[in-house]
Amino acid sequence: MDSAKPEACLKERVSRQNAGNATHLTATQVGLVIIIALGFACIGLMTVLLTAVSGTRGSRGRALADGLLSWGTIGFVVGCPLACVVIWRVLGRIRDRYGLNQRTYSLLLFASWILIGTLGAFLAWGWAALLALHFAWGALVPLGMGLITHGLTRRVGVELHCARCGYAHDDELEVCPECGADWNGRGSLLEGRLERSRVMVSVGIAVLVLALVLTIRPLVVHVVSPLVPTRVLIAQVGSGATYSPDVWNELSSRSLTPEQEQRLADALLDRRLHVGSLDLASNAWLEQRVAKGQIRVESIERYFREMVELDLRGAAKARVGETIRIEALVENRTTPWSGVGVRIFFAGFSVDGEPVPGTRMEQRASVYVFDEWSVKRKPGAELPAVEVQATRPGVIAVEAEAWLIFAPEAALGWGRAWDEDGRPIIPPGVLWTESVKLRHEIVVE
Ligand SMILES: [Zn+2]
Repeated sequence: MDSAKPEACLKERVSRQNAGNATHLTATQVGLVIIIALGFACIGLMTVLLTAVSGTRGSRGRALADGLLSWGTIGFVVGCPLACVVIWRVLGRIRDRYGLNQRTYSLLLFASWILIGTLGAFLAWGWAALLALHFAWGALVPLGMGLITHGLTRRVGVELHCARCGYAHDDELEVCPECGADWNGRGSLLEGRLERSRVMVSVGIAVLVLALVLTIRPLVVHVVSPLVPTRVLIAQVGSGATYSPDVWNELSSRSLTPEQEQRLADALLDRRLHVGSLDLASNAWLEQRVAKGQIRVESIERYFREMVELDLRGAAKARVGETIRIEALVENRTTPWSGVGVRIFFAGFSVDGEPVPGTRMEQRASVYVFDEWSVKRKPGAELPAVEVQATRPGVIAVEAEAWLIFAPEAALGWGRAWDEDGRPIIPPGVLWTESVKLRHEIVVE
C-alpha cells in the first residue's frame, strides 16, 4: 500500500464500503438481525400463549400447539424479520443517497419496524391478537432495542479505527499491531472511535422491561385473578376504570352467594352510571337477575331508571324577542344487542300549559332518536325540539311528557304509540313502564 496515499482517500474507500455493503454485514448488523428475529419470535410466542390461555373451551395445550404450528404464526416469525431487514437495506440506500442524518434514519427505521410488526400480527392473527397484545406497548420494544444497540456501538469522531479491535489506524501500517487484522481488507477500518454510552444502554433496558411488563400484563392478570378474593373482584367491577374482561371471566366462573350476587349487581349498576354502559357479558348477567327478580327491588328499579334518563336542554335565560330552542335528549346507558330493549312514547311538548301541535310522536321511538351522539351521526337528523318565542318578560315553562317502555326486543314492536283517547298502547310482556314528566323554565328579561 502506498504510504503517501491521503487519509481522505482511504476514508472514502471505507465509507463506500460501509454504504454499499450489499454483500458484507458487520458483526453488529448480524447481531441486530438476530435480535430482531428473536424479538418477533417472542411476540409470536406470547400472542399464541395469550390466545391459548384466554380460550374458554377445550384443552389449552392443544390450543397452544395449534397456535404455534399455524401458518399465521410461522409467517409472522419468519416474514416480519425478513421484511425488517429488507426495509433496513432500503432505508440505508435512501440515507446514503439523500444524506439523511443518523437520528432521522433511526427513527424512520424503528417506525417502519413497528409498522411491519403491527401489520404482520394483524395478518397472522386478526384483530383479536392486536387487542390481546396491547400492541401500542409492543412499539416500545424496537425503541429499547435501538437505544441499546446505539449505546453499545456508538462511534465518535472521524478518525479511522480497526474494525476488529478498535485500535487507532496508523497510515504507516498495513496490519493492525493490536490484533493483526489486515487493514487493506474490505470493511477492516471503521470511521470514528467506539464510545459506548452507559446511560443510553440503561435507558434502553428500562424501556424493554417496561414493554415486557405492559405486554404480558393480561397474562399476569390471568394468573393472578384466581387468587383474588371475590369481595375484591366485586369491588373492582364497581370501580370502573381498573376493570378488565379477565376479572369478569373469573367472577362469572365462581359460584356466588345471594348476598354476593346482590353486591355484584349494585357494583355493575355503579359501573354503568360511571362509564356509560355495560359490556354484553356483564349486562346479560344483570338482565337475568332482573328478569327473575333475584335482586332487591331497589336495584331492579335502578336498573331501569338509570338505563335511559330523559331530559330537556336549552337556555335558562332570554331577552324579549328572542327565540329559544329546547331539545329533548336522553342519557343513554343501554347496551346495544342486549336482551332488554326500550321504546320511548313521546307525548310532546307544551309551553305554559298549552300543548305544542305536531310535537307528539305518533310512532314508538327508538332511544337513539333522543341520543345526541347517534343523532349527530345521521345527516339532517336532529333531536326532538320545540322553538319558544319570548314575547314578554317573565317565566316560560316548557314541559314534555313521555313513557319509557322496557321489554325484550321481540315484545316491544314498532308501530303506533297512542290509542284514540291518547293513552299509550303498551304491548304485553313489558318488564317495566315509566311515566316521565319534564319541566324546563326560561326566565325572560
Ligand atoms: Zn485490530
